[in-house]
Amino acid sequence: MVTMKKQPPTPKAIIHQKFGQKACYRVEEVADVAENLCPGLAVPQQTKIKYRCILELPDLTISSGTFTRKKDAEQSAAQIAIDKLGIEANEQIPTPEGAFDELIARLNILFTDEFLLSNHPLVGHFRVAFKREDTLFGLVPISAIAICDSKVNSICKFVDIRAESDPSLLLYLISKAAKASTSLPTSYNGFFIQKQNRMLPEATEVLVSSQGCESKNVQTEAVFIPVDLDEEVKELKIDICEDDYFLDVIANTLKARDSSHILASRTVGKASSEMRFYFTAPECLFSSLAKNEEVSATYFEAVVNKRASYISGQTIYGDAILANVGYTWRSSNLLCEDVSLCTYYRMLLGQLPDGYYKLSREAVLTAELPSSYSRANWRGFLPKDLLFFFCRCHRLPQPIFCVQKVAILEGNDTTSDNTNFLRCEVRILSRSEEPLIICSFPDTYRKESDAIQNSALKVLNWFKVYFRQLDLLENELHSFGIAPEESFKLYPRAILQEFSLWTFVFAKSLCNYSKPNRVLENRVVLSNIEGPDSGVIPSAGSVTSVSYEARLLREGDDGKGYLVEKNEEFEFEVGSGAVIYPLEVCATQLSVDQSAKFTVVPPPRDVILATTRTDPSYLPDTHLENWRLEYEVKVLHVAAPMEERMETAFFSPPLSKQRVEFAVRHINKSHALSLVDFGCGSGSLLDSLLDHNTCLEKLVGVDISIRALTRAAKVLHQKLSKHCAMRECLKSAVLYDGSITDFDARLYNFDIGTCIEVIEHMEEEQAQQFGDIALSKFCPNILIVSTPNYEYNPILQRSSLPNKEEDPEEGEKPGPCRFRNHDHKFEWTRGQFQKWANDLASKHRYSVEFSGVGGSGDEPGFASQIAVFKRGLLREERNNESIGMESFCSPYELLWEWCGNRERGD
Ligand code: SAH
Ligand code: MG
Repeated sequence: MVTMKKQPPTPKAIIHQKFGQKACYRVEEVADVAENLCPGLAVPQQTKIKYRCILELPDLTISSGTFTRKKDAEQSAAQIAIDKLGIEANEQIPTPEGAFDELIARLNILFTDEFLLSNHPLVGHFRVAFKREDTLFGLVPISAIAICDSKVNSICKFVDIRAESDPSLLLYLISKAAKASTSLPTSYNGFFIQKQNRMLPEATEVLVSSQGCESKNVQTEAVFIPVDLDEEVKELKIDICEDDYFLDVIANTLKARDSSHILASRTVGKASSEMRFYFTAPECLFSSLAKNEEVSATYFEAVVNKRASYISGQTIYGDAILANVGYTWRSSNLLCEDVSLCTYYRMLLGQLPDGYYKLSREAVLTAELPSSYSRANWRGFLPKDLLFFFCRCHRLPQPIFCVQKVAILEGNDTTSDNTNFLRCEVRILSRSEEPLIICSFPDTYRKESDAIQNSALKVLNWFKVYFRQLDLLENELHSFGIAPEESFKLYPRAILQEFSLWTFVFAKSLCNYSKPNRVLENRVVLSNIEGPDSGVIPSAGSVTSVSYEARLLREGDDGKGYLVEKNEEFEFEVGSGAVIYPLEVCATQLSVDQSAKFTVVPPPRDVILATTRTDPSYLPDTHLENWRLEYEVKVLHVAAPMEERMETAFFSPPLSKQRVEFAVRHINKSHALSLVDFGCGSGSLLDSLLDHNTCLEKLVGVDISIRALTRAAKVLHQKLSKHCAMRECLKSAVLYDGSITDFDARLYNFDIGTCIEVIEHMEEEQAQQFGDIALSKFCPNILIVSTPNYEYNPILQRSSLPNKEEDPEEGEKPGPCRFRNHDHKFEWTRGQFQKWANDLASKHRYSVEFSGVGGSGDEPGFASQIAVFKRGLLREERNNESIGMESFCSPYELLWEWCGNRERGD
């Protein structure tokens, strides 16, 4: 699969040859601040970036000089290491001819008596060979050598680089070397090598007496992977009787001529395992190899086992068996471990961009790769590690992260320091180190790790989308799945080439699984809701912990079904897409201690199989058409969102309470009789007002979230049915479902309007629109608007909140901070808020005063900033102005109403 021109080896290649994966390169960016930087410019400026490479070897760490290209920095570090360690390049990378001679020499070593006395895994094969009494006495299949001896493997790569990805070529090269050797006869009827010289008696003795090893019957489970993609993968048992040779048994199972015709892939799965794909090389392949002919591509296409090739990264022909069996250095006994269908499907799933995340969270049917990263709320492996794993799985070089500094000015404060923001670019390279994807994102961060994790997550999510669209053509791939502000450079041809096997393997099964099914998701119906309503609900940004069971049920069957996945405690951040959509809907409609069930269409059989560790024999052989998947979910625990926790941890009384008290003061001072709460949410303000003695007669709440309104209705109902401070004077309480950017005449001319911590949840244009409509149409006498003060964030975010890591970098200056809540579309500085409010006030003849709660109000202002608008015109004058036709518009839907002691609505 990989072709390489023969050139003098690069320093990196030499280091790789010597240290392999143990050599770790890390490229650092060194800011080379250009002389001609213009201070105070509000656009990112071209800073020259240079690179330094840190090369870590087992006993040595090297740091290169700085270079303008990363490549050069790496090569330089490698060269320094070579000089320091005195490695001779020519010794390490032989010519193909030299390598071939070396191969012959190595084979001869393997057939010496001394070798037979070692504990090399190959000795196990010899032992069996010498126990045979038939014509195969003493014959060792060449593939056994290819399987067991890593030296032979690496020498072969220098004879022909393609041997790395093609086990049949490996076999061919070894047999050619054996034939070329004067002392190693190969057998005529296959790929066997025989030891020519008679062995020393003691060597024979040791081998045959099998010291320290018992032969016994073993039975192991393996998986059969047919070459035909339409045929299902099956489990199969391998029985190896006493004195049987396991390669013979595999040969029999695959109906190969004999064990010498069996080939094996490199090991797959866990590092220490002996799990490999076994297969038979087609005869004509060997004859073509022998004649040095190219085999036709269409022929290959038909006989390549795509599933096995995809997982192993090598070319595997025909039907294959995945088995974990073999001799190892550790023991002279044959080692066997069962390989189940589950193992196979987990490997396959692990290759998907989000598959490893699901597997690592042990929640294949439930977890989703979140769409956003937050340091405090992320669960499971970090995005960067997932991306490394993904690249390793696809045998791509490690992704390269390049963190750059970007200077951005804050607001219009030109005196403040150009605090450095970080932005991270990610590069994914092909196996031949050509670029596949270069991604840069507009988002900036203060911490390097945040920049890296966020970028890694975005790249993974790009791959996730791409994996759902495997049938893309080259010209469709140029700008596929890229948001306008993101600058992604895709290299379509390289991508298609690199991932060509995806299409075959995933197109049928796993891919469709990740295709979102919105229609269905919108109809999540909860059943069997049980448990008391504790009032503690998972809301966006909170970390929620649930227990769940997922069961497969056949249509019409009302038994318990089959348990496929179960988690006693599973934590996720609500609102970040970290779980399947129906589960999120379910959790957010329950409160702590409540449980409910819902049903979805089951994912493909392959995915189910990756989760069921026990015997899945109840499953039908193909699709799960008449089955459904039922989840039973219980909410165990909810950690409040960051914003709420901060407001409670830093302020006493909590900030939300202070906002209520602020409103109460204005209500009392103005003798207001009617109040409308714009964006009332779950009714926290209305609810608290009921506990205060005010003269309010009419309370109205509006929100666009039915879920929040439903909760508000419950809370208000509860309080009003008990005795509460306000119940005596209150005449009505109403909740409407509607957007506060639309006018509804029923809310015209109230005494007071409140809009507490709402505008930052809308886009800035909508906040503008709300301001205009509120002051020109709703026309309350007083309008109180509160929103977070962005300038206060450093104080909240620097101080140690439980769960927040220490961070020496986060400086003293009011730098860029994250928003307080991930649902916030913006957070304004005092300047921005006051501009918004002053412009509105003068436009609509209101006066405005600024105030706030939380903190003293000195620098940097209050934690929550508040604007109090007062109407300039008298009510009478106002009434003379016509409110026109719009007075009849009432787009809001009544959701709940309380009149005196009667209640209407639901
Ligand atoms: N005022 C409440 C809730 C604040 S959370 C409190 O202080 O507790 C913000 C609320 O604004 C959410 O409930 C959200 O549903 C609501 N919201 C956002 N955009 C809205 C819109 N256009 N119209 C009405 N409500 C909106
Ligand atoms: Mg808010």
